[in-house]
Amino acid sequence: MTPDEFRSAGYELIDWIADYHERVGEHRVASDVEPGQVRAALDGPPPEGGERIADLIADLDDSIVPGLTHWQSPSFHAYFPANAALSSVLGDLVSSGLGVNGFSWVTSPAVTELETVVMDWMVELLGLPDQFVGNGVIQDSASSGTLCAVLAARDRAVDSGADPTRLVAYSSAQAHSSIEKGLRIAGIPAARLRVIGHDDAFAMQPDALAAVIAQDIVDGWVPFFVCATAGTTSSQAFDPVTAIAAVCRPHHIWVHLDAAMAGIAALCDELRWVNDGVELVDSYLTNGHKWMGVVFDCTFFWVADRAPLLRALSILPAYLRSDAADSGAIDYRDWQVPLGRRFRALKVWFLLRIDGPEPIRTMIRDHVAWSQLVDQWVRADDRFEVVAPTALNLLTFAVRSGDGPTQDLVGAINASGEALVTPTVLDEQRAIRVSVGGQYTKLGHLELLWELIQQLADDLDL
Ligand code: PLP
Repeated sequence: MTPDEFRSAGYELIDWIADYHERVGEHRVASDVEPGQVRAALDGPPPEGGERIADLIADLDDSIVPGLTHWQSPSFHAYFPANAALSSVLGDLVSSGLGVNGFSWVTSPAVTELETVVMDWMVELLGLPDQFVGNGVIQDSASSGTLCAVLAARDRAVDSGADPTRLVAYSSAQAHSSIEKGLRIAGIPAARLRVIGHDDAFAMQPDALAAVIAQDIVDGWVPFFVCATAGTTSSQAFDPVTAIAAVCRPHHIWVHLDAAMAGIAALCDELRWVNDGVELVDSYLTNGHKWMGVVFDCTFFWVADRAPLLRALSILPAYLRSDAADSGAIDYRDWQVPLGRRFRALKVWFLLRIDGPEPIRTMIRDHVAWSQLVDQWVRADDRFEVVAPTALNLLTFAVRSGDGPTQDLVGAINASGEALVTPTVLDEQRAIRVSVGGQYTKLGHLELLWELIQQLADDLDL
């Protein structure tokens, strides 16, 4: 493709993407294709050359879009949001168009330095502690950020003489599965992840943590890592980070705070409580790519002290050496697992410069206020019970008559194609999880969801 051909195809595709966003609410939220259907439609010998962009667009419309779950739909209430603000999509396009690989400062100084700039902007915008200034990096996913935290924590413990085969880690049962996965990748099997009890609001109990740590020390284990969560996946519980850090500090245990979706709410002054205690942790992450609107992938990850992270991940063969690095320039490849890195800062920079933080704050405030309304609607209907507090923008509720009817209702909501929610289990009780975070979700969409739920509850005779 020549630059001229790119120009005209690009205009067409920008139109196509703009149309998709404008009309995304008209699609079934979840695809109803059968397994193998998309493949069968697109299978065949690989092309030998030269098709027109119009043919690709036709296939996008006919075969790809019907096979999508529409994460940008205003009726998407499953998992967590994956907002792709169009300003951010433009930044991503520039990143692709520039085609640079910014693994070292010297491989494109602007990639590194803009990343440091936007990470420091995020410290200011989220009201994070000063020790994070200059100590942030954009990771692909929260899972990768947590893995890096585990690797840094392990390095710090081993560096101070711990036996790596005796290291043990802690989280509540509500922590995300990426904790166990990160530990496993770091050579720490699931049996060495202690699951700490939680209170009625599904938040970790610091006294229980202290007791388990004390027993582990007596038994000859070396506690090295605690993952606290600000906004757990199943019910958006907030672990008491200040109390957890107080338990960990005397034992030099690394505290990691996973605030994947919820942390970004700190863009609003009155919601800064979501990150309470963050000034006491060793590492912290929140996703740009969930609620905030930075198109996937973008995880903001900070460490209070970069030394253990760099010790764990730096590797310096001759071909990666540079005078700049020798004189102290940041090489972000040493802050992550892979070598290569995209110019992700651009999509944050575009979002913040074009839209600014204010519309994001308004969206977050609306979602939080509307979630409280839905919470009231659910509580006013005797057929349902709210299973966990609605702290921010996630509701978990169940059908009072039991797990079977709850499961049936989730199935019926999702089969309708009009909305998408996620089932979960909280202390062995099945629950319906409604995430309110889509950039195009308005109060009217939640009213429609509630009408749908009530209608289906009638139909199912709940
Ligand atoms: N941590 C929490 C609390 C989450 O809710 C999630 C996603 O559900 C993750 C981590 C994983 O996020 P990512 O997909 O960015 O790895």
